[in-house]
Amino acid sequence: MNILVLVAHPDDEVLGMGGTIKKFAKNNHNVKIVIFATGISSRRSSNFKNSTNYVIDKKIISEMNKQIKKLKLDSLSACKKLGVNDVEFLDFPDNEMDLVSDLEVTKKIEKIIKNFNPEQIFTHSGFDVNVDHRKLYSATLAATRPKPGTKVKKVFSFEVPSSTEWFFPSQFSPNVFVNIEKELKVKKEALQKYKSEINDFPHPRSIEALDVIAKKWGTVSGFKSAEAFYLVREISD
Ligand SMILES: [Zn+2]
Repeated sequence: MNILVLVAHPDDEVLGMGGTIKKFAKNNHNVKIVIFATGISSRRSSNFKNSTNYVIDKKIISEMNKQIKKLKLDSLSACKKLGVNDVEFLDFPDNEMDLVSDLEVTKKIEKIIKNFNPEQIFTHSGFDVNVDHRKLYSATLAATRPKPGTKVKKVFSFEVPSSTEWFFPSQFSPNVFVNIEKELKVKKEALQKYKSEINDFPHPRSIEALDVIAKKWGTVSGFKSAEAFYLVREISD
């Protein structure tokens, strides 16, 4: 089965569904991960179309480009840890995807779907404090609107610690739970590849928090550790 994971930033794929990705890979499913924005939130418009023009000196741009490159390498090794080599980076402006038209993002997703032909798609929750996460959710809904002959059977959304839980009132209400008892260790190892993104507990983007969250969803689903998803839409014939 072809499974498409659409995320805004490097590390969202691990935080949101690293255990489930590992499980898919172990079961020989074909997983493709597409990372839309650069993930360097301090980035301030070098040459990006549709991005606000800030005054910024060349030295800062060069330093940011170095960080972006490093983050991509971290991302490749994190995804490899999860068993996925098919990773695509799109370089949309970070934390400014609201400045890109819905049409542009939707068309990009439609093109990816056409080429990769996924049966299932996973993306962010629309009830999330991060603007890029919300943009991807709405563009994914638009790109997967059911048409005759549609191949995408299921669309899921997931939470990203340090973002989804900070949306109030909370509306991430999962109804699908995946046992990641055997995959949690690898999920944590994958997050450790993102050295620049990890924080100390109690920050939600910490190794200890991954344990807490996996256990929390475990208590909801009867597993020792779980990841939680919301089934946005299912089409069955
Ligand atoms: Zn993100």
